[in-house]
Amino acid sequence: MSKRPRDPVQSCIGIGSNLNNPRQQVMAAIERLDELPGCQVLRRSSLYRSAPFGPVKQDDFINAVVVLETTVPADSLLARLKEMERIQGRVASAERWGPRVIDLDILLYGNETIELPGLTIPHPDIALRNFVLLPLREIAPDLVIPGLGPVNTIVVDELVPAIRRINEADNV
Ligand code: ADP
Ligand code: MG
Repeated sequence: MSKRPRDPVQSCIGIGSNLNNPRQQVMAAIERLDELPGCQVLRRSSLYRSAPFGPVKQDDFINAVVVLETTVPADSLLARLKEMERIQGRVASAERWGPRVIDLDILLYGNETIELPGLTIPHPDIALRNFVLLPLREIAPDLVIPGLGPVNTIVVDELVPAIRRINEADNV
């Protein structure tokens, strides 16, 4: 794994939770991301509430995306994110679409394309999931995604799964 710091790059991180006070979990993750050595959260999206995806019956998710400026190489960053997931109490589950305390995905890493065992960037689901694409567009409308093009031209079903932006002043 590469350990040596590199020139700062902007990386977009997708965050999701639907267990143990999901709003708090997402906000805690954003704070922790900002505290990671060599990392600074430059922007964060609103929080979004989305209906669960897939066959498992479970609570709604809270989702957000942040832009992280980082000098940490991509593979090390993924290792840090997995450690954060573990510390925040995520337990490994056999269920692909199961509930989780926290999910941290590297959506983009600068304009790099990376194919390593266990790490694909851009994240293959960006263009498939409105709960990734809508918050990403909110904070980075001019972004061009390697292999996919401008984020604003990617067509995604804005209604499936059901999603809405949370007014953070409301306690819902
Ligand atoms: P989900 O697809 O719902 O995020 P997991 O969080 O359990 O599921 O991730 C499964 C695996 O996906 C992880 O073990 C990780 O190695 C791999 N993975 C591949 N590319 C990425 C990426 N860009 N960001 C995060 N995880 C990734
Ligand atoms: Mg994940």
